[in-house]
Amino acid sequence: MKSDDVIVKDSLINGKGVFATKNFKEGEVVLHWDISHLITKEEFEKKTDQEKTNIFLMDDRYGIMAEPEKYANHSCNANTTAKNFYDIAKRDISIGEEITVDYSEALPPNVFLRCNCGSDNCKKIIKRSG
Ligand SMILES: [Zn+2]
Repeated sequence: MKSDDVIVKDSLINGKGVFATKNFKEGEVVLHWDISHLITKEEFEKKTDQEKTNIFLMDDRYGIMAEPEKYANHSCNANTTAKNFYDIAKRDISIGEEITVDYSEALPPNVFLRCNCGSDNCKKIIKRSG
């Protein structure tokens, strides 16, 4: 969902990223996902491996990630957590900081991504947790 609270621009993590244009307090909503592109499990299974990396599975619903949230980079030490199609600040986030998310929270099963986030707890391979 379009938001004035963040902007998309080049990221040092990977390609483009999402950056805060205001200060967020811990617990505050940072991103509200656009869920107007939901797909069925059957449609999901027909997608290519590359396309699957841009699809979320949340609350048993598959959907295609929209802007700006599709540009949010993963970190194993993310500053937000996904809940009910929102990304919520896990700690205070300062203006200008890159918004990072934990893909393992919303990645569909059997989709694997490599991680180079460099954090101490880096999982190296990102896959759905639980
Ligand atoms: Zn990592």
